[in-house]
Amino acid sequence: MPRILIVEDEPAIADALIYVLKSELYDVVHVMTGAEALKQERQTTHDLAILDIGLPDMTGFELCRQLREMRGIPVLFLTARSEEIDRVLGLEIGGDDYVTKPFSPREVAARVKAILRRAGNTSHAVTTVSHDSELSLKIDESAKRIMLNEIALDLTAHEFRMASVLISHPRQVFSRDQLLENAWHDPGAVTDRTVDAHVKTLRAKLKATQSGAEEMIETRRGLGYSYSPLTL
Ligand code: CA
Repeated sequence: MPRILIVEDEPAIADALIYVLKSELYDVVHVMTGAEALKQERQTTHDLAILDIGLPDMTGFELCRQLREMRGIPVLFLTARSEEIDRVLGLEIGGDDYVTKPFSPREVAARVKAILRRAGNTSHAVTTVSHDSELSLKIDESAKRIMLNEIALDLTAHEFRMASVLISHPRQVFSRDQLLENAWHDPGAVTDRTVDAHVKTLRAKLKATQSGAEEMIETRRGLGYSYSPLTL
């Protein structure tokens, strides 16, 4: 189920969007400020963001820039002024699409569908984590694979999702609970030890592919795990 992040500070507009997107069976997260949106995206990744341009704490443009620094997330802008449109779709901002207020929520749903279809179909839907190191992991979202440099790792679904969370946020420490929440559909059914066991098998697969690569998944004692690219 695609996960949509809505950032809109006008409750009436947000409610209408939430209603129509939920009826299309999207998983919807709604926040009112840029700061909350960044916090959400740090905790879990979203498949698309719908951003109001006039937010209380920053512009939707600035928020888009900061979200994209974390990950190449598709963005649909809600704009109140037609003169903003050129900027929205221009190179500087690089929005995927926009709708002008007032809009019909059905129209937004149709745009969301089209953007997600495009994002799923493009062969360049590879999230490249930028850094200068020689050894790194990349997520090929369309193929649902993790690449160690150019080699695809043979991972289970849980290993893939857990590794994706870590790789999308280099050097950020995730607790076992956070990993459980993001990589398991039914976190209640498993324990902290499950995360440890999957980290162990993930490291073994990294090591088998390239000796030393297992060190990219670091244990932060008492805190959890993090991913850092390596220079060998
Ligand atoms: Ca607003």
